Amino acid sequence: MVETLIQNLGEIHNNIIYIKRDDLIPISFGGNKARKAINFFREIDEGNYDCVVTYGSSSSNHCRIVSSMAAMRKISCYIIGPQEASKPTFNSILMGWLGAEITIVPVETVHDTIEKKLEHLRKQGRNPYFIAGGGHGNLGTQAYVDCYEEIREFEKQNQIHFDYIFFASGTGTTQAGLVCGQLIHGDNRRIVGISIARKNPRGRQVVLNSVKEYLSEKNYYFEDEKIEKNVVFVDKYTGSGYGTNNIEIEQTIKDMLFTHGIPLDSTYTGKAYTGMKAYLIEQGVRGKNILFIHTGGTPLFFDELENIN
Ligand SMILES: *Cc1c(COP(=O)(O)O)cnc(C)c1O
Repeated sequence: MVETLIQNLGEIHNNIIYIKRDDLIPISFGGNKARKAINFFREIDEGNYDCVVTYGSSSSNHCRIVSSMAAMRKISCYIIGPQEASKPTFNSILMGWLGAEITIVPVETVHDTIEKKLEHLRKQGRNPYFIAGGGHGNLGTQAYVDCYEEIREFEKQNQIHFDYIFFASGTGTTQAGLVCGQLIHGDNRRIVGISIARKNPRGRQVVLNSVKEYLSEKNYYFEDEKIEKNVVFVDKYTGSGYGTNNIEIEQTIKDMLFTHGIPLDSTYTGKAYTGMKAYLIEQGVRGKNILFIHTGGTPLFFDELENIN
């Protein structure tokens, strides 16, 4: 069970902004991938697994966390990565340093390479545990259903109601978990995923699929219409996709560090926070309580430090 701090950051356009510090989850620089990985490694610890296989790019926060949690257990970690995104980053340096074996292949052969790796390991008498990229799947979704419960508990204890929850949305598992939590409790608020790369309709569809998959596994039933209404996936602030040198994002990163001592990066949290500010203005949101979830990615902050003026 993880529980992270919620801080009050003051006002933006008459709204009060709070931030939930999932970047401070105490495993290898934290983040939402740590929250998800804790669930996968619980299964690994309970099962008879002796190694883990996953995939992601060289900048993947997920692969860094999985490498770290495998190293902590002294089990092997095998990472398959796409050639197209294999430029070294602090995350990939950490993966290597933590002993992960990284195989770089063209993106179209990633799937087959994973299958072959798993088959090869099993033939050798090993018992590999497979984790989908980004911690996608119901266990990953569960991590953010639990996060949603934490948010509700904070609200109860502090007599506050968050009208909006914002965060960086990628593969959509984080958003799916939060939306499932909201549906299960019937809470009235807006959960807004700021897309960091994917465009609609696909981006939103992936979130919807994850929501339905989780609810069906847990035997909850909601009308499609109700589910649709709760999935807000905003693709307006993606910039040039993963990693972007947008001036506004750079300014957000500076402001957050100078004013609050909180690091953001330009691929995920800096982009989402900038998008959230634009959204609040464009939608004329005023007088509301807003929660931003800091989903981590702290090593990426250092990668960009030399590009920021
Ligand atoms: C992966 C990631 C996200 C997106 O999370 P999803 O569950 O894939 O939508 C957001 N922020 C950071 C820092 C991440 O590493």
